[in-house]
Amino acid sequence: MRKIAIIGGGQSGLQLGLGLLQHKYEVTLVSNRTPEQIFQGRVTSSQFMFHGSLQNERDLAINFWEKDCPITEGIAFTIPGPNRTKALFWESKLDHYGQSVDQRVKFSGWLKEFAKRGGNLVIQDAGPKDVDQYSQSNDLVIVAAGKGEINRMFERDAEKSPFDQPMRALALTYVKGMVPRKPFTAVSFNLLPGVGEYFVFPALTTTGACEIMVFEGVPGGPMDCWADVKTPEQHLAKSKWILDTLMPLEGERCRDIELTDNNGILTGRFAPTVRKPICKLPSGKLALGMADVVCTNDPITGQGSNTASKGAAIYMQCILDRGNKPFDAAWMQETFDQFWKYAQWVTRWTNSLLVPPEPQILQLMGAASQIPRLASKIANGFNNPPDYAPWWFDGKEAEKLINGMAAAAV
Ligand SMILES: Cc1cc2nc3c(=O)[nH]c(=O)nc-3n(C[C@H](O)[C@H](O)[C@H](O)COP(=O)(O)OP(=O)(O)OC[C@H]3O[C@@H](n4cnc5c(N)ncnc54)[C@H](O)[C@@H]3O)c2cc1C
Repeated sequence: MRKIAIIGGGQSGLQLGLGLLQHKYEVTLVSNRTPEQIFQGRVTSSQFMFHGSLQNERDLAINFWEKDCPITEGIAFTIPGPNRTKALFWESKLDHYGQSVDQRVKFSGWLKEFAKRGGNLVIQDAGPKDVDQYSQSNDLVIVAAGKGEINRMFERDAEKSPFDQPMRALALTYVKGMVPRKPFTAVSFNLLPGVGEYFVFPALTTTGACEIMVFEGVPGGPMDCWADVKTPEQHLAKSKWILDTLMPLEGERCRDIELTDNNGILTGRFAPTVRKPICKLPSGKLALGMADVVCTNDPITGQGSNTASKGAAIYMQCILDRGNKPFDAAWMQETFDQFWKYAQWVTRWTNSLLVPPEPQILQLMGAASQIPRLASKIANGFNNPPDYAPWWFDGKEAEKLINGMAAAAV
């Protein structure tokens, strides 16, 4: 039986760990928090997931919360105008619904399931020395510790990382009592050029259904405003202030909101970073990085959990395909390259929205408000960002797409 150690029990680590157990691997999973600490702790993400990623969980029969979690049917995009108008608006249904299950619920549940299914669960804040030790006693060590400090073991890939600073000041507010969006549930995405973005959608948290508000403030701008917020009450008040001041149409949905719990809030910022996938350990053995460890994107496009899920699925297939051969450097690089074939488009697309948009992006968003098929194509691209190539990134291709769809619409 092959032995695999995974450092980090989050979206990718647990999905892979639970998957490998089903294929009779001997899996050790190291988590720096117990299930109880995770459940009772602070929120970590807005973790909205689209169909392809949700399907990975269904395939492993670990979609335990699918029936309880509210579904999100579409995407709505608004650039607010003056006096409660919309300067630009489109909305489109997704071909398949998306969902967001609070990582506190999911990871604590999956950790317990991992132990129940015979996995070796170790509660430990693993450091580089520990990783080296696991490499002695396992055929493969994968580091899936997300944004944990330990990811610094992996060298930043400057070529693939255009930013060395955080591009947004982030905040999350989990609430109950929000007026539902009509005519269908959606990720309601609002963009204020030069100021930032706000999006909101239904989710399942520790106390039942809720809405998650996500704030993305351009550094130094009016939405980069969390430094003086000290208490949960102030956090909620600041969230409402942003909407009432900058996006009053969204503010109207929030007259009666309250926090789901005092831990249903988060603020922070980080630089989007791609890292090299292989780390050479002091003993000479190797560790392989997975998901956020090797590719952290800004949450503006809601892709991190999705990419983690897709990455875990790719890594699992590569492990299965490897059979009994050694997990050497060449195999590790090939495995990452498989992942990067997908993730490069997530990164490129996400990064394109963190800087003033290229002209074709503005054209596409404008045309989507006139051409429902284009709105649908943009909305459904969130499920598989490679679909944005080449037209999202190339003026001529964008024009071709818009003209073709406009002609077909008449
Ligand atoms: C504000 C915000 C909003 C987001 N919204 C979305 C969204 O809507 N949709 C989406 O798809 N993505 C979103 N993301 C990103 C998403 O949550 C992450 O990309 C995803 O969880 C990454 O998965 P992972 O497996 O790499 O790491 P994680 O899921 O972060 O898991 C890593 C785990 O490793 C543990 N760990 C860390 N260090 C150690 C250590 N030394 N030893 C042992 N364990 C360790 C951590 O406690 C954690 O449980 C958001 C992120 C943020 C910050």
